[in-house]
Amino acid sequence: GKWSGDAIRRRFLEFYAARGHKILPSSSLVPDDPTVLLTIAGMLQFKPIFLGKEPRRVPCATTSQKCIRTNDIENVGRTARHQTFFEMLGNFSFGDYFKKEAIAWAWELATKEYGLPAERLWISVFEDDDEAFNIWHNEVGVPKERIKRMGAEDNFWTSGATGPCGPCSEIYYDFYPERGSSNADLGDDSRFIEFYNLVFMQYNKKDDGSLEPLKQKNIDTGMGLERMACIIQKVPNNYETDLIFPIIEKAASMAMVSYDKADDAIKTNLKIIGDHMRAVVYLISDGVIPSNIGRGYVVRRLIRRVVRTCRLIGIRGDVQGNSEGAFLPSLAEVVISLSTEIDPDVESRRKSILGELQREELRFVQTLERGEKLLDELLDEALLCAGNNGNKPSLSGKDVFLLYDTYGFPVEITAEIASERGVTVDMKGFDIEMENQRKQSQAAHNVVKLSVGNETEIVKSIPDTEFLGYDSLSASAVIKG
Ligand code: ATP
Ligand code: MG
Ligand code: MG
Ligand code: MG
Repeated sequence: GKWSGDAIRRRFLEFYAARGHKILPSSSLVPDDPTVLLTIAGMLQFKPIFLGKEPRRVPCATTSQKCIRTNDIENVGRTARHQTFFEMLGNFSFGDYFKKEAIAWAWELATKEYGLPAERLWISVFEDDDEAFNIWHNEVGVPKERIKRMGAEDNFWTSGATGPCGPCSEIYYDFYPERGSSNADLGDDSRFIEFYNLVFMQYNKKDDGSLEPLKQKNIDTGMGLERMACIIQKVPNNYETDLIFPIIEKAASMAMVSYDKADDAIKTNLKIIGDHMRAVVYLISDGVIPSNIGRGYVVRRLIRRVVRTCRLIGIRGDVQGNSEGAFLPSLAEVVISLSTEIDPDVESRRKSILGELQREELRFVQTLERGEKLLDELLDEALLCAGNNGNKPSLSGKDVFLLYDTYGFPVEITAEIASERGVTVDMKGFDIEMENQRKQSQAAHNVVKLSVGNETEIVKSIPDTEFLGYDSLSASAVIKG
């Protein structure tokens, strides 16, 4: 029969447990680490061990780690393989085994346990990593033409601007082997999907960018659970796996549309809902409350985006038909019903998660409706003004920014509504306003830094880090100044 996502997760953990790894729980999405805002990878909870700052408790471990990558937000629903929330399965060696075993086990897991055909698997190695190349070719038996040497961008992994890092080797799955190997490009995501990354963690990247060899050679790996489920369940994307699809089906039924019959735009919106609902439920469960700073702003922005997306496809009010009611709680219920093996604590926090979502949704809808009123007035003005002086009606960058910044009004929506009334928006002007705000918050942050003048104090102030918008909110270096 078909593998469920839960079964894939279990098999991974059991495979490594049978090879001496201790199964450990996922850590919180809120990391105990000042260099990143949210947990972006399985290695984060082990960073002090990799750096030699803490003694290892076991020689090797395996986990299924909840992760958030806000830098992938624009990819959600657009690529088949990216979510903001995903689970990363990992096996870790703390100075115990190294390349040879990591490679051999990853291959055995993929081909024997999950039964992927060997001839569909492709390998990338860091450009000058002959050792890894030779293990893949000579010991595992992968033909040379299916092992690609790639540059640092893909095959030198770092968790952030500083910290443990090293060359890596990735395993890709080929959806179309019939296309042959002569012109194959692993970056072509209509053909290949990267699912497993093996990091040979042997350096510490310092503030000045230099690489200092670690005392021990470590292994840090990550396999995307939803990606493996996508491959094994033979569905076109991560969203149609049993890990996410029930949320999409719920949203589709609330919008009274059918996913299968929907056009691409609606499908993308449903995928955004499927992803963001998971992200906000797990973030709130881990104690992140919507606010205007740091992590709180990440969750607020995700909630706003999912509310707007739901309204866009016609979801209004709650399932009881109360038009003033909130709809996020009904969607969150589905996320919670799927949570048992991802995070057993979520179920027990159900009430507060639903309450928080309901409060935030209703608050945002109010703001949104106030913004709609203001936008109407601004459009009236623009049309009147243009009529008087014979110019083309246009909304200034300042106004668009006001709607965005104060009323949480997304620029695309402003542009859309404006164009319905024949008014253009000054996007250049808007970008300038955004840039000004960015500079101001940067300056404010620098002032804080100077006046504190003490490294550890700066570190403590991280939860208050100013949110600078999605553009600048990369998964790693979110600390500005
Ligand atoms: P990609 O190149 O596809 O963006 P990546 O190289 O950024 O992936 P890694 O940092 O190597 O990813 O993370 C290890 C694994 O985690 C990946 O091989 C993939 O299976 C999974 N993964 C990474 N990012 C995502 C995401 N946004 N959504 C789902 N799975 C992900
Ligand atoms: Mg990526
Ligand atoms: Mg990659
Ligand atoms: Mg990778």
